[in-house]
This record gives sequence, structure tokens and C-alpha cells, in this order.
Amino acid sequence: MHRDRGAAAAAGGAGDRKRIGEPMDRSSPSTSWGFSGGREKERIVAGKQPEVPRSGSGSTAMSMSKLADEESGTDSEESDVDVSGSDGEDTSWISWFCSLRGNEFFCEVDEDYIQDDFNLCGLSNQVPYYDYALDLILDVESSHGDMFTEEQNELIESAAEMLYGLIHVRYIITSKGLAAMLDKYKNVDFGRCPRVNCSGQPCLPVGQSDIPRSSSVKIYCPRCEDIYTPRSKYLSNIDGTYFGTTFTHLFLMTYPHLKPQKPAQQYIPRVFGFKIHKP
Ligand SMILES: [Zn+2]
Repeated sequence: MHRDRGAAAAAGGAGDRKRIGEPMDRSSPSTSWGFSGGREKERIVAGKQPEVPRSGSGSTAMSMSKLADEESGTDSEESDVDVSGSDGEDTSWISWFCSLRGNEFFCEVDEDYIQDDFNLCGLSNQVPYYDYALDLILDVESSHGDMFTEEQNELIESAAEMLYGLIHVRYIITSKGLAAMLDKYKNVDFGRCPRVNCSGQPCLPVGQSDIPRSSSVKIYCPRCEDIYTPRSKYLSNIDGTYFGTTFTHLFLMTYPHLKPQKPAQQYIPRVFGFKIHKP
């Protein structure tokens, strides 16, 4: 059980070494697009049954494409967690996290990258329960399983989620990260442009700001060069900072052959077949 494993890992070390009980901005109701809504709940529920793949019993690739279908299809209203499959015990926290509904845009960050302190420079000041969150992400087991209360474990879990996001935004602009996102792009994991004249152009994730909790993740269409709200309501809870403002455009500079031609067609409004006169 990942949640239990996570709790155990997170519970390592001296209890009051960290700022336990310190309020977390994350769960503050003041965030306009609510981090602490259904998704957290879903995470907790999902955490108790961490089997992957979560949709369907096929391979990961299959489940990814199913998720992509969901993304481009109708927005499902069901709020229950679709957990199927069987053995989740040997799945890393990172794989589990990336397989959760709403986390489809995240690629799996290399553990080697996370283990290099240089790459995490400055993050310990931004994330509460930093050490525990990091242990959780890296599946570091600990013998102090019952050290924390349920509530503290939940805080550590959401800290791990935030830490992963902040590592992710750094990772995806490295060559390995760009390659990982390229695979996801080819798999249309980020959805398609809703604009008719873009003919289903696959999109890329983009943040509108690099300041945490400014806005949720958006999708950028390389054809019409505009941004859109992702269809899936689960994605509306994902901080755009975890993708940042740079990745999308660095990606298209790195793989310029992926940059499509601008659409030739433009929609023309008509009334009774006549173009509308603009005064
Ligand atoms: Zn477009």
C-alpha cells in the first residue's frame, strides 16, 4: 500500500524536527481555484488502493492512451476513482503519482535527478516537511511508521505532491525531461486543440506563471499559438507552475520539426450566407 508505505517513509526521523502543525498554504481556501478540493480526497482514496494502471487492466501505455482519450473526449462527471488492475506493490511512488487521474500531464522524473542535491537547490525553503516529502517521493522506507498522525501524513503527502511538481518543472527543461515529454506529446497525453481549424492538433502543457499557486495548468496549441483550459476537470487542480512558462517553448525550439504550419483557414462569421459588415 503506497499510502501506508508513504506514511512509514514520511514518518522517519525526529518528529519535531519539522514544522508540524504549521498551516500549509496549499489547503488555504483563499486559492481561487482550490487545491484542497475533491482532488486531495481522491488522492487519499486512491492512495489506499494504489494499483496501477488505474483505468483498465492493460499495459501502462494502454492506460495512458485511455487517459488521453478521456482528455479529448467528453468530460466525465463521475467522481469515483477508477481503480483496477492488481499488483501495485512494486510500483514506485513516482509511477503511482503520475498514474493518478488528473496527473496525466506529469512525466516520470528520473530518480537519479532527484537524488542529486544540486537539482533540488532552494526547494527545501519552499516545501514544508521537505525531508519527509523527499523520502516519500524516493520510496525511502523508515521504521518510524506510527510517528505521525493521519493528518500529518496527509500534509506530508500533499507536500510531496508539491515538491514533485517543483522538481518536475526543473526536470522537463533538461534533455532527459524534454525527451520524456516528447514521448507524452507523441502519445497525445496533453490533449488536442479544441479549435476547429487546428484539426485536432496535439497540445503541450503550459503554465501562465512561474509563481506557485497563480493559476492552473493550461494547454498550448503550437498551431494557433494560443492557450486553452484543459477539458478534464481534474487538471484544473494542477498548478501551472509545475510546468512553467518556459518548457513549452523550449520544447518547440528543441524539436523544431514538431512546430506545425499556421492554419490557413480562418473562421468567417456569416449571416444568411453574407459576410458581416464591420463598420
Ligand atoms: Zn490550435
